Amino acid sequence: MSNSNTGIDYLLELNARHSQAFIDVATERRRYRGEHPTEIAALKCMDGRLHLPVMTQTALGIIQPFRNLGGKFNLGWPFFQATLDHWVQYSISRGRYCVIFVTYHYARGDVHRGCRGFNYDVDAAKNTAIQLKDQFARVYGKGAVVPIVCGIETDLDALILHADDGRAIDLAEARGSSQFELEGLLHSLYPSMPERIVLDLVPLVAGNIRHIAEIRASNRPIEQAEHKEWVLGIGRGFDWLHAINTAFIVGPFDPHLSEAIETAAKLLKGNIDDGRVDPSGIVLMTSAAYRELGPEHELAKEKALFLSKFALDIIKDKVQDLVPHLQILTGYTDMSTRKFEVLERIDRAGARAVGKAA
Ligand SMILES: [Zn+2]
Repeated sequence: MSNSNTGIDYLLELNARHSQAFIDVATERRRYRGEHPTEIAALKCMDGRLHLPVMTQTALGIIQPFRNLGGKFNLGWPFFQATLDHWVQYSISRGRYCVIFVTYHYARGDVHRGCRGFNYDVDAAKNTAIQLKDQFARVYGKGAVVPIVCGIETDLDALILHADDGRAIDLAEARGSSQFELEGLLHSLYPSMPERIVLDLVPLVAGNIRHIAEIRASNRPIEQAEHKEWVLGIGRGFDWLHAINTAFIVGPFDPHLSEAIETAAKLLKGNIDDGRVDPSGIVLMTSAAYRELGPEHELAKEKALFLSKFALDIIKDKVQDLVPHLQILTGYTDMSTRKFEVLERIDRAGARAVGKAA
């Protein structure tokens, strides 16, 4: 990996490009949302390989990502339930269905390319996803909110769709990909699913089948399917960062936030120790998301500055060897443009933080 593909300047350029692309496709996105109104969220592991817009060939801004270590969430978590329920109520007030992909991940070729958050135990990850799906069903009933357990297989970037009766379909083995065949597949897996949702999921399923074919045709080397993250992203508003394998992203939802940050920092240090990333381009990046100017914007600033310091303190305390490598980038993301605005930038955090030259 060359210098020019890591570091703060690269991140800011990447954001500028993606923000422009996000603005450019605003009309297309509105048209798509008009045709496919179902709101879709995905609960995912922080793992940098899991990028559903890429995997489903879907425009940014269609799938709302929620990230945490292992994709572990609990509707009992105060901040998570408030955020999620706000999203559900907003969708319902607009007469839209909500689909929540409750995901776990693994790699078909090697168990050790799977999820570190579950010590590579696929069954444990899957069972945790099923429990979370059941929790959604308990809270929201069988109506407008539809949770779906979904495996993400990272060697081929394939989705595994799980039905409530224990069946599952690996989209890497899907036989047909016509509209008719995919509607049939979804009806068979989810007999009680409203037709509106079926029609809105077909483009994602079709996109994943196309993407899998492209991955197969490209003969992607297996090393590219291994960890190469060089960014530790804390907070929200990171969906523009859709370069595969770039960032571990830790959302602010987990009450045990400090443990998630510690784990991500250790994984990042592991990437350096194993020579998979350029040690001079490691970034601790914190983002808070906002839509409106005024207090929401101001609160986003306060949150980003707080979280950045919070994360750095944990890293200094628990993963001190990472500190000399860190560059620090703190800011907030305007969700209507995905533009990241810089609040604070420290190119040589290590030199300052541990009192020696980096
Ligand atoms: Zn994981």
